[in-house]
Amino acid sequence: MIDTKNFPIDLVFPPQGHFTQPYLALPCLKAFLEENGQRDVRLIDASVEAYDRFLSEPYLERCAARVAERLPVDAFEGADALAFEDMERFRAAAEAAVAAPGLPQRVEEAKRVVRGERFYEHEAYLEAMGTLYAGLRLVSAAHFPTVLTPHNFTMGYANDRSEQVLAATLDEEQNPFVEHFETALLPRLLERRPRLVGLSVIYGSQLIPALTLGRLIKRHLPDCHVTAGGGFLAYIGAKLMRAPGMDACLDSIVFHEGEGPLLALANALEAGRSLDEVGSLTWFDRSGDAVSAVVNEPQHPVRLEGAPVPNFDGLPLDTYFSPSVVLPYDVNRGCYYGACTFCTLPTVIGPGYRTRSAERIVDQVLELKERYGTNLFNFITDCMPPGLISDLPQELIERDADIRYWCDARVEPKAYTPEGAQRLYESGCRKLLFGFETATPRLLKLMKKGQSPRATLEVATNCSNAGISVTFYAMVGFPTETRDEARATTAFLIDNADVVREVSLQTFHIDEVARTYHHPEEFGITIIDDPTADLQLYHDYESATGMSQGEAAEMFDEMMAGLRQHFPLFSADNVLYFMQKSHYFLHLARGTTPDAFADTCRERTRAITDPPADADFAVVDEVATLEVPFSYARAVEKLADPLARAVRPDFMTGRFVEGAASRAREALGTLPPTRRVIAHAPRAAAPFTELAPDGLRFLEALRDAGSLSALLAALDPTPAAAERAVAFTHRLYRSGLVRVLPGRLAPVTASVRPATV
Ligand code: SF4
Repeated sequence: MIDTKNFPIDLVFPPQGHFTQPYLALPCLKAFLEENGQRDVRLIDASVEAYDRFLSEPYLERCAARVAERLPVDAFEGADALAFEDMERFRAAAEAAVAAPGLPQRVEEAKRVVRGERFYEHEAYLEAMGTLYAGLRLVSAAHFPTVLTPHNFTMGYANDRSEQVLAATLDEEQNPFVEHFETALLPRLLERRPRLVGLSVIYGSQLIPALTLGRLIKRHLPDCHVTAGGGFLAYIGAKLMRAPGMDACLDSIVFHEGEGPLLALANALEAGRSLDEVGSLTWFDRSGDAVSAVVNEPQHPVRLEGAPVPNFDGLPLDTYFSPSVVLPYDVNRGCYYGACTFCTLPTVIGPGYRTRSAERIVDQVLELKERYGTNLFNFITDCMPPGLISDLPQELIERDADIRYWCDARVEPKAYTPEGAQRLYESGCRKLLFGFETATPRLLKLMKKGQSPRATLEVATNCSNAGISVTFYAMVGFPTETRDEARATTAFLIDNADVVREVSLQTFHIDEVARTYHHPEEFGITIIDDPTADLQLYHDYESATGMSQGEAAEMFDEMMAGLRQHFPLFSADNVLYFMQKSHYFLHLARGTTPDAFADTCRERTRAITDPPADADFAVVDEVATLEVPFSYARAVEKLADPLARAVRPDFMTGRFVEGAASRAREALGTLPPTRRVIAHAPRAAAPFTELAPDGLRFLEALRDAGSLSALLAALDPTPAAAERAVAFTHRLYRSGLVRVLPGRLAPVTASVRPATV
């Protein structure tokens, strides 16, 4: 018998989301539910909890043992060739075998660095992040072909076919969250016995883990209603509810904004009423012989001005992978512009554009600052309207809010004047992200962006001059874009690399909500539907002019290579700052200027790529080596080809490209057996280096000698051989396998057989 006086609600953020800061949706829902009478609401960030447990010594020890059993690298010995379909397995097995020893013991320290004061030491931070990435590679190898990174989670299943998605929720070999939820989350749920669990599914990468958890809850707590909502389900929720077998994982889905529907759902469940009246809900009616999905009428969204301050209580704010918590806060919802032809955000977030007043925003921000002891904020907005660009900074300054914040922004030349930008900086703004998209006016017109490259640059320059770091979102492969146009975008960005600090480049995708999907004729494209993909959201297309999708993927690589050469934040492993949400911002918030940070990045790149010509060297501690029967470097190269990348679920869309595996197999071929050595330096920017057997012998000789000068003195080489030895040692240095010693390399004059080195 259910105790109806007690109505516990658990709101869960399932893996996988960024691990550096909390998400906003659940704290907004908790605050709203509690303000309206549902007082027993618990928040669980199951994503950061999973990262924290996976990146722990005992878990990684288990993964290492599991990899040795599931992916033994010696299984490849004696094979005539390495087939394309085995390359990923070979790579994962080899990397795990060489990197696993010692890794579990280093991971706790890496977490301490990222969460503590040493976060601000450039080298310590990059090394620690390298360790965390290595830890996740080991977790992934233990669940091969699954790949978990700080930014994504994909399995060997497509996200756009319900049969595969549901199968993935049951696959204990590949799905690390089955064991994780059973061990770390389910016992807490069983103890509390919530009556309603809400799963927040913002990204496609959360779909399988969310349904995995939903299935476990439905199995173990049959009286608990499991609902789900969030941005990703606004796209595919209706299809999900029609998919056979989905009722084993869910009871309902809330569409668009969650506050009103979730409250109505909780109240109806608590009172034992029918769910017919709960707006914006699609639910499974289990009262008949067969389960049927019932679609309710939509509900109006809440008045944002009246919505309560988000309540982050209960979230593990010390567990995020950052030294200080950066709180998200939504200044508005929807987009006041809403016309860009590729953009689906205004539709997905819910009907209409709503904002809060500057006064209300500052009231709530100050309350959050006081309650959680942080002055760091990520303002969640698709774009700040011109009025708020002046009102909000003014209010923050007048009330001496003393906060630091970053947010997305739309190019509004009248608002981001030199004075406007200065006011934003004074109010605490340290980073702005603008939708630049492309340097081609023709394409901007087709996108209906309502802006020109010149205006965007002017706005960016004003912000940069005021001390605000500027990021551009850019796009490659918009229908009809040519290679020359994409190259012009790269050139434009590179020309302005002192104004624009970061570029978030993405390839264009068509989803079912965008205008490009509904009016393909306007863009000269033909949409290709895949009838076998019942959860299909993203579609392939053929373009009459401009780059094909495949060519756009190749162009993406070319553009990224150009950006990595010219943007200090993208060079070498500095890119790790760009990749972790808010990590670069934390430096800016501390007072580092964008110029000073760029200099530090340049210095790091120089230091790891450009040793002094007369430096002496020694092998770094902890270098591990592994002999392998095929070329690791060639396998990595082939797997990086756009054709090979299309075989895995796509980073953005989670879907497989039809026929990609056979195309890749045909084009990329096999690898012949070749004895090679993988050398692994755990603290290096590039952790894996392939050596020929001769290269390994040199490395070992260098290690035995203690220094390059000692080795050369012992070998007594000819000048030419000595030159080759020095050049090879410089290569080892760039791979992080040797370090510079104090003192200079002694000149070498006598002769030795060149083959010796
Ligand atoms: S791209 Fe930005 S400005 Fe354009 S509609 Fe989307 S959110 Fe609004």
